Amino acid sequence: MTPTTLMPTRRYKPLGVCMYCLQAAEKLTEEHIFPEAIGGKWKLPASVCANCQTIVNKPEALVLQGDLYTARLALEIRRKKHAKKERRDGPALPRKIATSNGPFGQQFPEPDYQPAAGELSPLITLLQFLPPSRLPGLARDESQHAVKLSMIHLGKGSPWPVGTHLSTKEPMHPWEYAYSIAKWGYAFAVAERGLECCDSSAIRDLLLGHGDDPMSFAGGIEEPLQRGTHLHWAALREEGGLLVARLHLFASAGARPYDVVVGRLMR
Ligand SMILES: [Zn+2]
Repeated sequence: MTPTTLMPTRRYKPLGVCMYCLQAAEKLTEEHIFPEAIGGKWKLPASVCANCQTIVNKPEALVLQGDLYTARLALEIRRKKHAKKERRDGPALPRKIATSNGPFGQQFPEPDYQPAAGELSPLITLLQFLPPSRLPGLARDESQHAVKLSMIHLGKGSPWPVGTHLSTKEPMHPWEYAYSIAKWGYAFAVAERGLECCDSSAIRDLLLGHGDDPMSFAGGIEEPLQRGTHLHWAALREEGGLLVARLHLFASAGARPYDVVVGRLMR
């Protein structure tokens, strides 16, 4: 099965106030639940003030330019100026995955499978974490934040000979990565259930730069892999009095989902 790069478009009802500081502002901008840069199609219009946008976009930008770089290459999503250059010079970006000029530190053979339009390229890398420690029964020591780099191999056949050693020069930002996952989970929760979804003060504090432990809010899951039918997906659930968002990034590629503890349910 060829992993799809598509997901259905959603446009949620505008919140009318900033989802982070809860203030009304003259100009509120649109928030994407999953960033457009990784193919996100779910939009929450008029929901972020300019001040908060500056704060929350900084960590996310680092992740999109670093940790999720190969994923973006795999999706062939690039900035407009790259698209312009490409029209001039011919296609270039996806090949970076397989050359020493790309994010990897060493030369290895061209993959024997080249994706067609609308398919993912052969390899993406994502960070994996322990489950969020705010989930019931998971409190742990601050130092227990194991982070793994998981490489998801999408190609048909074997793109590289068995035993090919891959190394990566991709900058890793585990803190910012977990922060971004937390942000997307929170955005999804308020898009679905509004600002009254739960007591979200702790995660809003984190997102506005007053918290230092994104991995207590956002983390991995222990369950087995299951491919999704869309590029990204998300769902909400209630567990132990908490509202939890499950984000399945690169679901169609069989990536492991993440959980985000959005806040305590108010009943
Ligand atoms: Zn704001």
